[in-house]
Amino acid sequence: EKSRIGVTGLAVMGANLARNMARRGFPVAVHNRTTSKTQEFMKDFGDEGPFTGSESLQEFVDALETPRTIVVMVKAGPPVDAVIDELAPLLDKGDIIIDAGNSHFPDTDRRAAYCQERGLRFMGVGVSGGEEGALLGPSIMPGGDPEAYAEVEEILTAIAAVVDDTPCCTHVGPGGAGHYVKMVHNGIEYADIQLIAEAYDLLTHVAGLSAPEIGKIFEQWNTGDLESFLIEITGKVLAKTDEKTGAPLVDVIVDQAEQKGTGRWTAIDALDLGVPLTGITEAVFARTLSSLRDERRAASTTLAGPTPGSGSNRDDLVEDIRQALYASKVVAYAQGFAQMRAASQQNDWNLDLGAMATIWRGGCIIRAQFLNRIRDAYAEHPDLDNLLMVPYFTQAVADAQDAWRRVVATATAQGVAIPAFSSSLSYYDGYRRERGPANLIQGLRDFFGAHTYRRTDSDGTFHTRWAQDGSEVSTG
Ligand code: NDP
Repeated sequence: EKSRIGVTGLAVMGANLARNMARRGFPVAVHNRTTSKTQEFMKDFGDEGPFTGSESLQEFVDALETPRTIVVMVKAGPPVDAVIDELAPLLDKGDIIIDAGNSHFPDTDRRAAYCQERGLRFMGVGVSGGEEGALLGPSIMPGGDPEAYAEVEEILTAIAAVVDDTPCCTHVGPGGAGHYVKMVHNGIEYADIQLIAEAYDLLTHVAGLSAPEIGKIFEQWNTGDLESFLIEITGKVLAKTDEKTGAPLVDVIVDQAEQKGTGRWTAIDALDLGVPLTGITEAVFARTLSSLRDERRAASTTLAGPTPGSGSNRDDLVEDIRQALYASKVVAYAQGFAQMRAASQQNDWNLDLGAMATIWRGGCIIRAQFLNRIRDAYAEHPDLDNLLMVPYFTQAVADAQDAWRRVVATATAQGVAIPAFSSSLSYYDGYRRERGPANLIQGLRDFFGAHTYRRTDSDGTFHTRWAQDGSEVSTG
């Protein structure tokens, strides 16, 4: 009997996705480049469900029902191309290859074209939720051929997380749209994590609290507006005692953040699209600054900080930080969604942004109550330019802004770096200005480069002959 679907790449994600499918009753053929991994998989999990272990790609392909559906879950980058190259000659017209790893969306567009030339159907599918999500129900962001999606929808929706009876999986759009949305999801995850780290820093260095005390505060915060997976696990990580030293575990973890690249891709794409994306981008820069550990060590004894000021009431400060975190989070999501809207317009993807918020409610790393509000916002205003403009978020930020400003001022006065809090506030203040200072930028550009400017009182473009008689000429 042939398998309904195949999974190649049996590291944590592939193995757990395969197990998830088998648990839902789908017969799964499994394969891994290094055969011993397949054997180990069959030994450990073979009796969990209807698996067929394949030791070669040919055996794997032969084990599948036709048209075949193959999930590729290997290391992102060149390995995905290597696997597609090896698979393509073994497949028949109409077979479906699903790349479920964290591929960069332009690669997905390229691979889709490559497969199409060979009569194969290709899908780029974003999967979030880490190891546990893959096993118990991830958030799934499928992109590519809609007819191919129709054929795999049953399996993907069956293995996805479910919130309010709705699976966290919906066809996102054509080509690389699924991987694009997964990329922005990861970017937002960077911003969320950075905001949490800044709150922790302030609670440690301004409020003077210990890691377990802060853990309790996060546990408390998780019962309100901020309720989310990341706030919940922050409480748990801060509460953990190191077995070796008896100190809080976070206190012995090296303060250098690593990254795999999806946050950087999101920021680069925002620059390419011309979308202001300060929260995510600052989060990427904060990680890169954290990695300059030796430089920071030298600077910490060289560069002066402020004279310590008088502390404010600790309880007030904690509540202020909570509100600043929430307001900054609203801004980070407003920016991420504005970016998806811009990408959708540029690529004709027709993204349903409310549906994106809906499939992120469960399974994925940024799952949160808050996403219901975003879904509601797009249900009411599908063409919304910016989430800040719907009454719920307008009010949320209005309510939080005094606290937010106090936190940014306090952190600045006390010398604690808060790039995501402060850049989000600056974005907010910049966005709500009818007239900003870019008129001067245009004046300067015209002065040194004759780049021209537009006037508030007449149409067309103009140039002032700065170096000659100072008169203005119309240039178009
Ligand atoms: P890894 O990214 O660590 O990749 C390891 C797998 O890739 C192994 O099966 C390995 O086979 C295979 N592989 C590497 N190079 C090749 C090659 N040239 N040809 C064939 N196979 C190759 O595994 P993960 O499970 O962590 O992640 C898989 C994908 O899912 C990645 O794109 C990742 O970014 C993404 N992802 C990961 C998440 C996570 O939490 N880990 C969350 C969401 C997405 P071999 O055993 O032979 O070396």
